[in-house]
Amino acid sequence: MKALVKRAPERGLTLTEVPEPTIRDDEVLIRVRRAGVCGTDVHIYEWDAWASARCKPPFICGHEFAGDVVQVGALVDSVAVGARVTAEGHIVDEHSLFSRTGNAHVDPATRIIGVDRDGCFAEYIAMPASNIWPLDDAVSFDIGGIHDPMGNAFHTALTADIPGAVVLITGCGPIGAFAVGICKAAGAAHIIATDVNPTRLALARRMGANDAVHPDAARDAVMAASGGHGADVVLEMSGVPSAVHQAFALARPAGRVNMLGIPAKTIDVDFASEIIFKGLTIYGVVGRRMYDTWHQMSRFLRAGHFDPTPVITHRLPLEAVDEAMHLIKSGEAGKIIFEIA
Ligand code: ZN
Repeated sequence: MKALVKRAPERGLTLTEVPEPTIRDDEVLIRVRRAGVCGTDVHIYEWDAWASARCKPPFICGHEFAGDVVQVGALVDSVAVGARVTAEGHIVDEHSLFSRTGNAHVDPATRIIGVDRDGCFAEYIAMPASNIWPLDDAVSFDIGGIHDPMGNAFHTALTADIPGAVVLITGCGPIGAFAVGICKAAGAAHIIATDVNPTRLALARRMGANDAVHPDAARDAVMAASGGHGADVVLEMSGVPSAVHQAFALARPAGRVNMLGIPAKTIDVDFASEIIFKGLTIYGVVGRRMYDTWHQMSRFLRAGHFDPTPVITHRLPLEAVDEAMHLIKSGEAGKIIFEIA
C-alpha cells in the first residue's frame, strides 16, 4: 500500500510502498478515506528537537483519520466490516491506574498512532477495536477525519463553564476556530477571539466570534464585553508566551484558564500576581477525555448546532505532503485534509 513514511532521523516524509498492516485478534483494519494534517505532523516532518527525542523511525506518520472497516480480528464483536469509523489515536492500557480512574487521556504510557506506532497517512491502518469510534451516517468522512483535533477543542471548551460566559480564545488555528463554534453552540454570552493573522481572524468570525481582533486590541474587547471584570473563561490555544501572559491577565478574578497551546520553551510566570492572588483555576488539556469528549462531540454534531466545515480549507492528495506542510507553516490554512480513497 501507499504510505507517507518517516524513513530516517532527518527532515521530510517519503511517499512509498509498504506492506499492508496485519491485525491482531483484538484489532480492526480500516481503509483510510480522509486524514487530517496537524502541527504535530509538521514537527515530525521538520524533525525538530521534540520529534527526534520522541519518535523512532521508520514509521508511518499521521494520527487524524476516518475510513471504513475492512477486516476485524477474531475477538472483535463491537464493530463490523463495512462500518464507517474514526478512532481515538491515543492507545492506553485499559487496566492502567489512569484508565480505571477516568483519566486515560493523561496516562504517561500512552502510545500515539503516527508518533509512537504506525499512523494513518496510508491506505490502511490497524487499530485496537476499543479505540474505534463509529460515525453517524450524516457525518461525512471529511468531518470524521478531523474528530481528533475537533475533540481537542471540545475537551478545552466543555471542561469550562461556557453557558452565559464571556470567553476569550487566544489563537485561532484550526483548534481555536473549532472552539469558537463550540462555545457559540454551548451558549457563551460573548466570544472574543485573538490572533495576529487576519485570515485566521476571518475564520473565527465565520465560526461565530463576536469580536475577532489582534492581541493588542484584546484587552479593550474583553473589558467592554465583561463590564470591566475580565473574561470568565480563557481558552489558550497558541502556546505563545505573550498570549499565555495575556490569558492570565484578561481572565477575571476567580476565572478559569484552559491551556491547550504548547509553548516551545519555558515561560517565566509570576505565579503570585498572575495566578494565585487572582484565584485563577488553570486546566491543562491533553487529547480528548476517553470517552466523555467523544460522546459530547457526536451529540453536538447530531444536534446540528455546530458545523466545523468552514475550518477545512484545503483538500490534497498524499503526493502533496510538501505543499501541505508549507501551507500549515504559512498560517494561511485552516484544516488541511488528505483525500486518500
Ligand atoms: Zn493532530
